[in-house]
Amino acid sequence: MQPFEEIENIVRPFILSDDDYKEIMQRMRQKFDEGLGKETNPTASVKMFTTYVRGVPDGSENGEFLALDLGGTNFRVLLISLDGQEVKMESKIFLIPQQIMLGSGIQLFDHIAECIFKFMKEHNIIHKKIPLGFTFSFPCKQLGLNKAILAHWTKGFKCEGVEGEDIVRLLHEAIQRRGDIEVECLAVINDTVGALMSCAHSNRKCAVGLILGTGTNACYIEKIDNVELWDGDDEEPREVMINTEWGAFGDDGALDFIKTDYDRKVDKTSINAGKQTYEKMISGMYMGEIVRLLLEKLRKGGHLFGGKGSEEMSTRGRFYTKYVSEIESDVDEHFKNTKQVFEELNIEKYTDEDCRIAQYVCSLISTRAAYLAAAGIGCILNKMQRPEVTVAVDGSLYRFHPHFHDLMVEKLNQIVDPGIKFKLTLSHDGSGKGAAIVTAVAHRIR
Ligand code: ADP
Repeated sequence: MQPFEEIENIVRPFILSDDDYKEIMQRMRQKFDEGLGKETNPTASVKMFTTYVRGVPDGSENGEFLALDLGGTNFRVLLISLDGQEVKMESKIFLIPQQIMLGSGIQLFDHIAECIFKFMKEHNIIHKKIPLGFTFSFPCKQLGLNKAILAHWTKGFKCEGVEGEDIVRLLHEAIQRRGDIEVECLAVINDTVGALMSCAHSNRKCAVGLILGTGTNACYIEKIDNVELWDGDDEEPREVMINTEWGAFGDDGALDFIKTDYDRKVDKTSINAGKQTYEKMISGMYMGEIVRLLLEKLRKGGHLFGGKGSEEMSTRGRFYTKYVSEIESDVDEHFKNTKQVFEELNIEKYTDEDCRIAQYVCSLISTRAAYLAAAGIGCILNKMQRPEVTVAVDGSLYRFHPHFHDLMVEKLNQIVDPGIKFKLTLSHDGSGKGAAIVTAVAHRIR
């Protein structure tokens, strides 16, 4: 067998056919319907959580708000002032140390309360009573706009005593324990809703929010008639945002037919094995690791680096997802970025052919991720049947990968029903601005 044939055989499981993507869409649609159904929801893998966020903003929202953004890499506290289309924002990133991410819920919320206190002190607003919106991007069953029960942790968090609890109550209790600050949380949203609301503030066509960062998730505007579990009022607009929590798609085996050995390995070594199947095939927390495992397989087979790797390349998590973007950004035969990544990984000897192979591997994994995400968005657009929809997208993977947007558009053009127009646009600062907008509306109508 020729060497390239052997390489092709190894990577083949990552190349999915048009029929595979069609099948994925059909299965996803079925899971959406199960999540929305009263009888089927309790056992559904895709939970389709009701958010209690109704309709989109009208652009007249105003006031000063605090926002918290917790749900991945960074924890941020923000101060946002809204005045019609004018939005002013100040924010500060606080670290959440690993021992807190894996510690107790009390520790986590005490840390958050302390960060709020420090932020307010720095901004001289310590004695003001400011409404707060909490962007909490983990799967929550919401019982109201400011009552959200954490279903389970994802994305590297595992704090004891929070699953099954109302996170607003835990936050308020921590604020009380901290003392000296008067802050009331009026709304909990997740980052998908933030992205959607932030974009909808100036674009009436925006009806879908998508995150492609540490994790992946999407929300969209659904007709209340389709939400069997709706227990809110019947007033206009008879629509509500649904947080799909689509990252869990496949947890019931629906994606087993496309899973590779590498996906299984990534899952096995994660802290939430068996969970977030679709997310693990797409998002930033896992993509680099899938690439690393595949490169290691090729190296061990003698197809890369003359068979000689490095300690870094053999270390789980050491091949960062940003390397995928960097390697795929090389446009000529000099492979400047690719070589730099190899240097950072302490690969002693590499050839131009090694660069080409690494680039090919990265493109296969990112293309599968982009097409899978497109299959999900296509499923939502075909379900909504609105003639024209803007999808607000946020997250570093979408933002920084050189081809993710184009790959998604290419796939969407194949799979979206004829007559439906769509646009994917980057949504900036959704987690802060979106939370402020939802809080502003909640504050106005209370
Ligand atoms: P979060 O989703 O946690 O709010 P981000 O949107 O910044 O935050 O996403 C962080 C994820 O994006 C990480 O998993 C990281 O690996 C990935 N990432 C960071 N930089 C890049 C990049 N240049 N290209 C692709 N992925 C990236």
